[in-house]
Amino acid sequence: MQLDEIEQLVVELEKFVRLSLTILLSYMVVLWVAAIWWTIQDIRSRTTSLGLQFVATVLVLVFNFAGLLLYFILRPQRTLSELYAESLEEEALIRTVNDAAVCPLCERPMESDWLFCPWCQARLRQRCQRCERPILLRWHICPYCGTAPSALPRPAASARELVKP
Ligand SMILES: [Zn+2]
Ligand SMILES: [Zn+2]
Repeated sequence: MQLDEIEQLVVELEKFVRLSLTILLSYMVVLWVAAIWWTIQDIRSRTTSLGLQFVATVLVLVFNFAGLLLYFILRPQRTLSELYAESLEEEALIRTVNDAAVCPLCERPMESDWLFCPWCQARLRQRCQRCERPILLRWHICPYCGTAPSALPRPAASARELVKP
């Protein structure tokens, strides 16, 4: 093998290595930009705090994939829409509990087994004729034994009959 042939080979090899490095580098840059873009979208769905959004973006911008890993560990666990859905559920639950705990007519507190409101005399519940547990007038079925109150003869109301609110 002659010297100029070897030189030629080295030049070819250098070209190949440079091309490979360029491809690898552009691939890394694309991944890096995608990671930053994804982080911005993700942190915006998790917090409205501009400070946190900035810190998360800079973390991935500077530390790259190590930053992304750190972000995964440190990011808020729940998205804003998840938090919103949870707060709605909680509110609905509180409302249900409150509904049961006050007289719908005079809104004074009542016990869950009262048949009449002692203050305004409103009829709150009737007793199931089969299992004798107090059930709300607006219920279509006794939740304890399954008897439909409409099938039972209503006892004569001695106090004001409570209309469904
Ligand atoms: Zn009352
Ligand atoms: Zn019953």
